Amino acid sequence: AYDLVSELIEKIEKSRLNAYVTVTKEEALKKAEEYDRGRRDGRLAGIPVAIKDNISTEGIRTTCGSRMLENYIPPYDAHVVERLKQEGAIIIGKTNMDEFGMGTTTETSYFGVVRNPHDLKRVAGGSSGGSAAAIAGDETVLSLGTDTGGSIRCPSSFTGVYGLKPTYGLVSRFGLIAYANSLEQIGPMAASIDDLGFLLEIIAGRDDRDSTNSGREFSYRPVSKRFRVGVVEEMQANPEVQQVFEEFVERLRKIADVETVSLPSLKYALPAYYVIAMSEASSNLARYDGVRYGYALENLDSWNRYFSRVRAEGFGAEVKRRIMMGSYALSAGYYGKYYLKALKVRTLVINDFRRAFEKFDVLISPTMPSTAFKIGELTDPVTMYKADVNTTPINLAGLPALSMPVRELDGLPVGLQVIGNHFEENTILGFAKQVE
Ligand code: GLN
Repeated sequence: AYDLVSELIEKIEKSRLNAYVTVTKEEALKKAEEYDRGRRDGRLAGIPVAIKDNISTEGIRTTCGSRMLENYIPPYDAHVVERLKQEGAIIIGKTNMDEFGMGTTTETSYFGVVRNPHDLKRVAGGSSGGSAAAIAGDETVLSLGTDTGGSIRCPSSFTGVYGLKPTYGLVSRFGLIAYANSLEQIGPMAASIDDLGFLLEIIAGRDDRDSTNSGREFSYRPVSKRFRVGVVEEMQANPEVQQVFEEFVERLRKIADVETVSLPSLKYALPAYYVIAMSEASSNLARYDGVRYGYALENLDSWNRYFSRVRAEGFGAEVKRRIMMGSYALSAGYYGKYYLKALKVRTLVINDFRRAFEKFDVLISPTMPSTAFKIGELTDPVTMYKADVNTTPINLAGLPALSMPVRELDGLPVGLQVIGNHFEENTILGFAKQVE
């Protein structure tokens, strides 16, 4: 373990990927030494795991990719971190991410963009860009990401790794620094399906400190059968990616029952997602006032000036945009027009998926409408938001979905999205194994 961990750390220190915000060198090497001396309790004993930097780690800086939390050291562990430690995992570091998870390219991070191991001029996706690049670039064995509207699946797709967003309520959010509570889940990222299922088994399960936790445990037992597969008509990609996807569907017809399925409400899902996500964000981010948490200034002259300066300096542009838009959508007079309407769309989306799962075991689509963007390519926010068109409906409905690499296109990975019904993680993992 010592050799493995020191090799990884050496690689990270020389790396150009910028996948890590913090490397926990001493602690990781110490744990590895203990393992080598024979302390091998737990199902993850001796295995290095990287953790997204919005998941609280006791005594280890947790920044959320923001200047606001640049020096924040949590006094407790998130539920998932407790579980990893109980199983003997070696926490190797905290991974880079879009500021507070708000982005699709990791370009909004205060700590700089994460580069794609397949092409250093391209992004690794976001917001869990660091967790994905660390796997793809062999800078960890396993990692944890979080997915509010695609943040595990997008970077998995762009870097060619496996990433799973669990059913809402399967994995406790205790200790996850909130962006949009009703949408997000912590999930596993790995280089194989078995690793993904195994890591999910460890982090899932009952935790009474998260009131939305389902109390269910998960044991990894991938389903094997002839699958009924729905190809979602509304989830499309650019012509090149679409062609790769359609070739995959053609091959799939030999081993599964494949049909096209239409979910008409999906055309409203993306705007509904952004209204809900921004509304929840505007409320969650009100706590960063420079007194209770994070970035603080000297010279408290007037409270109002202090509060605005802390937030002006501590937050980046994308975060400010979302706080303003979210506050707008929730304000009296606009609430019914935007927020309430978005909630109604959410119900329609849930109903469309419910109908589809009466007929199909899994639904599939391209994860992202394109391969990885060039760094700096997305210059306006709306173009960036549109990249989330196939991933955000899943979070509105609270469903589990994974992204797996299918093929490369000009040297860049293309991801397949596999969606399952609530708590059907073993179905989507089983399907993924069959088509791998
Ligand atoms: N790109 C989406 C957003 O910015 C999803 C982010 C996420 O899942 N954290 O909201």
